[in-house]
Amino acid sequence: MKYLHPLALPCLLTSSLLLVTPCSLSAQKTADTSDKVAYTYLKQLVSPTEGIGAREAGTDKEKQTASYIKAKFEKFGYRTIEQDFSFKSRKSEGESQNIIAELGDPTKPTIILAAHYDSTAMKSGSMGATDNGAGVAAMLAIAKALTTKIPKNYNIRFIAFGAEEIGLQGSNYYVSDLFKNNKLNNIAAMINFDTIAGGDNVYVHSAHITPYSRCKSENYSSDTSIRAALLTASINVLGEDNKYVIHPDYEGYPEGVTGSWSDHASFACAGIPIAYVESTNFAINGKDGFDGYSQSTAEQLWSCYDQKNASACDKKAEKNWGNIWHTKFDSLEQLNKIFPGRVEQQLSNNVKVLIELLADPDKYLQSK
Ligand SMILES: [Zn+2]
Repeated sequence: MKYLHPLALPCLLTSSLLLVTPCSLSAQKTADTSDKVAYTYLKQLVSPTEGIGAREAGTDKEKQTASYIKAKFEKFGYRTIEQDFSFKSRKSEGESQNIIAELGDPTKPTIILAAHYDSTAMKSGSMGATDNGAGVAAMLAIAKALTTKIPKNYNIRFIAFGAEEIGLQGSNYYVSDLFKNNKLNNIAAMINFDTIAGGDNVYVHSAHITPYSRCKSENYSSDTSIRAALLTASINVLGEDNKYVIHPDYEGYPEGVTGSWSDHASFACAGIPIAYVESTNFAINGKDGFDGYSQSTAEQLWSCYDQKNASACDKKAEKNWGNIWHTKFDSLEQLNKIFPGRVEQQLSNNVKVLIELLADPDKYLQSK
């Protein structure tokens, strides 16, 4: 332990003077704060020795993960639904499920925080730690903390999406179900946690200014209000030095906007303002330019990285491109070796920012 928790001091004094009070118990309790508990959840989700490990869409491991998430939400006291669906993509077909949890009044304007829990590239050795155990672990820690901080004017809904990696199946199903049941109107915003820890910087994006080509309706939203709210909350909680970052302009993508490659896409298509939190590095000139696909400059993640040009030493010979997602580097063991303490720190930061925003959305969002 690096420092003594401020609450631990009176406890130690009391016990040494009076030989009473269950000090070890209360100290343990204060150490188990919501931002720390996220890392425990991450281990339970992604460690093949201490937890579940790889969780590919449609497999028993994915199902086991859904049960784990559902049990956690229920233990916190949330009303929890398992939404089953079948999927059929070009590559595979099968069954999966979304886990949906809320505590508040669903007729109120609802803010959704979502993270997909399936993983991919198990054959390459990926355990889906950054993609997307981290997002799920943080979401659970936030849900746990918010049980005692229910906002007055908003409902907060948490969703763990299944089968994201094989075509955003869970989120597509969820949004089309809302549409069918006429329940889209009170969704005020959607925040997507995907790959929120592991990369060099933590960014927040909004939807592209041009409607995604996959959208079927005319109701597209590129509204930036929820991105702005997250950015301000991150400044308030983490300070200017550690706040979320908006990525600079790059080819085809103006400053701060993202494509349709994760679970936020269906929501933007349905006219819902979205924000997408992602850890990566847009200052790297990657395989296809400065597009954020290379997550880090760490030399272990490159065949050869040229610091001066912020790119591969030899573009033709480069094999790894600073990628963590969908590679053997996406395990807690590897990440902790390459970046000691980083994943835990980024998880903690994300948890703190979201608790700040979701406990009192009125403070950050102009209109409901
Ligand atoms: Zn992902």
